[in-house]
Amino acid sequence: MTDTHRAYIGLGSNLDDPLAQVQGALAALARLPLTRCVAASPCYASRPVGPQDQPDFINAVAALDTRLSPLALLDQLQAVEQRHRRRRLRHWGPRTLDLDLLLYDDTCLATSRLTLPHPHMASRGFVLLPLANIAPTLRLPDGRRIADLAAHHAGDDLRVLLPQR
Ligand code: ADP
Ligand code: MG
Repeated sequence: MTDTHRAYIGLGSNLDDPLAQVQGALAALARLPLTRCVAASPCYASRPVGPQDQPDFINAVAALDTRLSPLALLDQLQAVEQRHRRRRLRHWGPRTLDLDLLLYDDTCLATSRLTLPHPHMASRGFVLLPLANIAPTLRLPDGRRIADLAAHHAGDDLRVLLPQR
C-alpha cells in the first residue's frame, strides 16, 4: 500500500453534447482504481473562438485522492479518453474529450509523456476558475496562489452551468 496523493484533473469537451460528455468523464474518474474523487467543480461553458455555429466548450476540474503514480494515473486518464473517443468515432463522427493532469501533489516533472504542473494551466481561465472553485487555498509548487491567478480571468466569458451534486 503506497501513500495517497492529491491530483487535480482538468476536463474539457467540445462534443455536440459536451455537458453529458464531461459529466460522464467525471463519473469515470470516480471509478478509477486506487482512487477516490473528493471534489468536482461545476461545469463551466465558454463560447467557442471563431465560428459561433458550434457548441459551447465545457470544462470542469476534479480533485482526486489516489495511490496511483503520476504515470499510472496518466495511463488511466488516456484510457478514459480513448473509450470516449472510440464511442464517438463509431456513432457520431470525430469528437474530443481532454483529460489533463494539472497537479499531482507538488510534483514537478518534465518527461516526454508527462509535464507537471500541466504547462498551460496557469494561463487558462477555464482551468483556473473551476480549480479555484474547489480548491481556493491551493498553490502551485512555485508558491503562486490559484485564487490569485484565477482573479486575472474574472472577466473571461465563462458561465457556470450545473453545480455537481
Ligand atoms: P492537449 O491536452 O495539449 O490538447 P492532448 O490531450 O492530445 O493535447 O495531449 C498530448 C500529450 O500531452 C499526451 O500524449 C500526454 O502524454 C502529454 N502530456 C504531458 N503532460 C501532460 C499532463 N500534465 N496531462 C495530460 N497530458 C500530458
Ligand atoms: Mg490533454
